[in-house]
Amino acid sequence: MGTTPLREILAAAAPASRVEGRFLAGTMASGAEIAIPWVAIKGSREGRCLWINGQVHGPEINGVLAALDFVNRVRPSDLSGSIVVSATANPLALDARTKTTPQDEGDLDQSFPGDAGGLPTERLAHTLFEQARGCADLLVNLHTMGHMFDSRPYAVYKLHPNGKVDEQALLAMIAPFRPGVACRMRVEQGLGELPGNIAGALDYQMLALGIPAFMIELGSGSRAEAPYIAQGIAGFEDVARRMGILPGDPGRYARLKRVARRAHVTVSHGGLFRAAKFPGETVRAADPLGSTMDLHGKVVESLALREECIVIGMRRDPVVHSGDRAAFVALEWDEVAGE
Ligand SMILES: [Zn+2]
Repeated sequence: MGTTPLREILAAAAPASRVEGRFLAGTMASGAEIAIPWVAIKGSREGRCLWINGQVHGPEINGVLAALDFVNRVRPSDLSGSIVVSATANPLALDARTKTTPQDEGDLDQSFPGDAGGLPTERLAHTLFEQARGCADLLVNLHTMGHMFDSRPYAVYKLHPNGKVDEQALLAMIAPFRPGVACRMRVEQGLGELPGNIAGALDYQMLALGIPAFMIELGSGSRAEAPYIAQGIAGFEDVARRMGILPGDPGRYARLKRVARRAHVTVSHGGLFRAAKFPGETVRAADPLGSTMDLHGKVVESLALREECIVIGMRRDPVVHSGDRAAFVALEWDEVAGE
């Protein structure tokens, strides 16, 4: 669509400057642009590039706000290198407040590296990917849980079999976000917690190129949660220090809880579900996560697991039908150094 590569725009920009624009991915019937807005800060000295992608799913807002607040508070003259924020990678889903793209029901985070001649979602993926791969030395891909769940910030990362980016390099950049857990997600078909093309995630396709990338799940959807936005900003600042982009010594962090297996816990009976545990809690085997009452006032289900778990996400919306997710939990974990 004739968008100038951002790498060229940054090269031509004055030192210690802020530039912004839109990556064109197409047009609507009305003629409105389908475009990905971006902001970039070029430092006063050469250096590496931190790329922050605020969202790929329309209702996930905390990451967008954290990325923009961060870039707004950075002083260009302090930087060695650059910071790029693509606030939304799927403007069609943001506008419609939907997880997927309304035009083709595509999930953008299962569509990378995209296709310049493909469906609307594939065109958006291609547009962002071509720009990011030309600039980024590290990419943070932000998400949140769905709006029906409460969750504290946590990380999700994958490992590419080509081994160009090792696990420790990722954990060192994940630790600054102080995630409740860091989930190592399997990519092989059929092993993910949810169906779909997990290998189509932006972070995984960046890893394939040897560019470190991971996901931060920053709270809950359809909300602006101030503490989690602040936690995201603190993470970006420290990652930028670790990359040598911002001056100052990187922080030190507690060990990470690395999760190898997680699961959705679903209800069998419909009714009104009330949580007994909250995100971040470790729950012993057989200790109830919550219970469901039917509309005659009887408790019809007490939800408990046979094994110990850590609560990652807990249902906030009490209305449940059989098969609905009540909790998202970690089932296997160990502790690892983040640096
Ligand atoms: Zn998401």
